Amino acid sequence: MVFFNTKSTIILNRIIRAYTTTSNITVDALVYSNYGKPSEVLKWHSYPLPALTPETVQVKFLASPINPADVNQVQGAYPLKPPFQLLNEKDDIKYAVGGNEGVAQVIATGDKVKGIKVGDQVIMAKAGYGTWRTYATGPASDFQVLPMTDSVSNIQLATLSVNPCTAYRMLKDFVKLNKGDYVIQNGANSAVGQSVIQLAKAWGIKTINVVRNRPDIDALRNELEQLGATHVITDDELGSFETKSLIKEWGQPKLGLNCVGGKSATEMARHLSANGQYVTYGAMARAPLSLPASLLIFKNISFHGFWMSRWTDTHNMEERKIMIDELIDLMKRGHFVEPKWTQVEWKEEPVKAAVDQGIQGYGSGKQVILF
Ligand code: NDP
Repeated sequence: MVFFNTKSTIILNRIIRAYTTTSNITVDALVYSNYGKPSEVLKWHSYPLPALTPETVQVKFLASPINPADVNQVQGAYPLKPPFQLLNEKDDIKYAVGGNEGVAQVIATGDKVKGIKVGDQVIMAKAGYGTWRTYATGPASDFQVLPMTDSVSNIQLATLSVNPCTAYRMLKDFVKLNKGDYVIQNGANSAVGQSVIQLAKAWGIKTINVVRNRPDIDALRNELEQLGATHVITDDELGSFETKSLIKEWGQPKLGLNCVGGKSATEMARHLSANGQYVTYGAMARAPLSLPASLLIFKNISFHGFWMSRWTDTHNMEERKIMIDELIDLMKRGHFVEPKWTQVEWKEEPVKAAVDQGIQGYGSGKQVILF
């Protein structure tokens, strides 16, 4: 005979309530089973949310951006390969869910889960999670809890872990910058570039910001200056004698940040001060970076690469938390605003079109899916 006292009946009820084998929530996701052109390989897929277990949490995604690396990942041209897996027991094809970054809210937690509760807002603990989906179930270690705040928007939180963190690390980890020192960067209107401008301003560092020329360049110059850019110049001005003299007058930068490559990246390196540090973190122009030997021999400039995913893999959650808390604090105090962004409608065709457009250039800001 089985005897239940009141306490064990309550426990049993909780187990039945929480750990049913099927979930009545349907996940909608943008997935792919092969690499290729995003609009050809991405497809809409709906499946039941995996059930909660004592060790897992369930989250509902609020917003996820489309970053250049996400597009490269779908194309198969990114070193970080996503996990291809059976998302549903009825599937016979293994899929990867698109997207690496986003903000989600915890909607349920298993009884053994500690340090994360219903209502918490979380970001992904690592790249490659698959954030173009409405819900997910996973171990608590898949997520990092954000400090509670009402004054930071979902757009800021959804776009926090890649671009602002990359800017933060590059400004902190390669050379000691003192107040008044200069940094030069290209792709300055990118989300990383906007983050560099704002962090540098908050920390008293001056920036020389290189952007591609365009018909409405004054509007862009104005936008970046509003964010805190000290100087904005175009890539076709970069190699001129006048620019060289101006930069010498302002103060030669100790740090250069390159996400473009090709000719303008070479020109930018020439403006660094002796013993300067030059960090390459992207290759938007898809052209190699060639370097005059004199920069290495006579100016002793050091050239580095930076990859945020590697930093996240080689540092612990506590170190990441310190950085994230500092960034959120700057956001709360109004020193760090939303990136320029446009909303992508959460339907198959608009998202596929947005992903195809993701790396075409001269865009109108970060594309963000709001679920
Ligand atoms: P955004 O989508 O916000 O902006 C893209 C930027 O690239 C814009 O400044 C755009 O300028 C520029 N661009 C696009 N096409 C070209 C081109 N053909 N030649 C020159 N510039 C071009 O980008 P993110 O801020 O998200 O990322 C910027 C770069 O940084 C990407 O290469 C990305 O992969 C890289 N990145 C690297 C990280 C790392 O850990 N290594 C982390 C985060 C980002 P325009 O307006 O002139 O088109």
